Amino acid sequence: MTTITLVRGDITRQTADAIVNAANSSLLGGGGVDGAIHRRGGPAILEDCRKLRASHYGKGLPTGQAVATTAGDLDARWVIHTVGPVWSAAEDRSGLLASCYRESLRVAEEVGARTVAFPAVSTGVYGWPMDDGARIAVETVRATDTTVEEVRFVLFDERAYEAFDSVIR
Ligand code: ADP
Repeated sequence: MTTITLVRGDITRQTADAIVNAANSSLLGGGGVDGAIHRRGGPAILEDCRKLRASHYGKGLPTGQAVATTAGDLDARWVIHTVGPVWSAAEDRSGLLASCYRESLRVAEEVGARTVAFPAVSTGVYGWPMDDGARIAVETVRATDTTVEEVRFVLFDERAYEAFDSVIR
């Protein structure tokens, strides 16, 4: 049984086995959560990401997939990078957003993480409407059979917290 918890705050301040990064496919850093993780986690994370680009992910990490690196100076053992889809009104990309949560949990299980902190993937720069992003996040985690014991959604502002809270109830 996976327990879902919600906290309001900065994901880089969390203690967890794994912290999920809302990365972009380059894996070489960006804004939002990505920028904050690399800033606080230090250069070891980027170093691992560069190795991934030089080996398995020459063209970058495809949307909807996930991969683990060291967590550097963060209070975690792994950062799991996942690439959310950019919101589109013309095309339904919700399968890709669900895949981010499913694949991140699969990678978490693979490395042996029991507690995993997630941001609200795609709801920042990538423009996904918060209510829908929250629904997909919670429904996907609930529907995923995993050995991960705690999934913690770390919501940056009150609006995001409220959106997740109303889906949880
Ligand atoms: P994306 O490119 O996938 O949209 P962003 O990082 O721009 O990713 O935003 C994803 C969500 O994370 C947004 O709701 C944003 O407000 C939130 N966010 C930004 N910084 C942090 C942080 N340090 N901790 C937790 N959530 C954050």
